Amino acid sequence: MLILYNIIIFIFGLIIGSFLNVVIYRLENGEKIVNDRSRCLSCKHILNWQDLIPVFSFIFLKGKCRYCSNKISIQYPLVEIMTGILFVLIFNFQFSIFSEFSIFNFQFLYLLFLFYVSSTFIVIFVYDLKHYIIPDKIIYPAIIITFIYKLFEILKFNHWELIGNWKLEIGNLTTIFNPFIAAILAGGFFYTIIIITKGKGMGGGDVKLAFLMGLILGWPVILIALFLAFILGSVIGIFLILAGRKKMGSMIPFGPFLIIGTFVGLFWGEKIIKWYLNLIN
Ligand SMILES: [Zn+2]
Repeated sequence: MLILYNIIIFIFGLIIGSFLNVVIYRLENGEKIVNDRSRCLSCKHILNWQDLIPVFSFIFLKGKCRYCSNKISIQYPLVEIMTGILFVLIFNFQFSIFSEFSIFNFQFLYLLFLFYVSSTFIVIFVYDLKHYIIPDKIIYPAIIITFIYKLFEILKFNHWELIGNWKLEIGNLTTIFNPFIAAILAGGFFYTIIIITKGKGMGGGDVKLAFLMGLILGWPVILIALFLAFILGSVIGIFLILAGRKKMGSMIPFGPFLIIGTFVGLFWGEKIIKWYLNLIN
């Protein structure tokens, strides 16, 4: 049964990935997210369903448009496959925590929430990589939905006793508002960097993204994600400079590193923290 779930979720991820490509394209070209039929980007020919099957169409057409033979960007199949893989990872990560999975409980809501958030991250990843911008149209809805979801989570599962007892001591408050505290700390941290570096190192988009990461991951997992992002960013930045692809002080988008950090935090954050605590004790 588990393998069947995985296959269905992977295919679902491919389809969502295909939609995310459309979202990215429309963001780049300022069109509304839902309108019109899909067209070839070069010759504007309307595409058939055979041209729009995720990944397979790309392979079958050898990466070229059926009508004008112009190249189709590798971004399309890559985004589709990455979405598929991420959805499967999220599902299994979810499954290892909750042994009984059913579409009729809150774990299903959590799964949908994670699918939504990771879709958002994939769009931001690609867009920031290509254009050095984190689009407000994508990040603001994600922050609002995550905020509402976290409020709901607080009320629903976690802390009714704490709230019900009215023993709102500092310890209880920090437990209840953990995601919000993590969000403010992470966002504030990036905001401080911007002020100190006068906006050279980071952009306003990174502040919003860090805030969103804090909401999703909470404290202390957010630390793992940020730490990883900075390590990865430095290593790859140095590598690009050495390889002659970038100059010292030139722009490298930081969003993709933050997003990789977020996924690592989401999947393995708790384990890394336990491992680290064992190490220092
Ligand atoms: Zn074409």
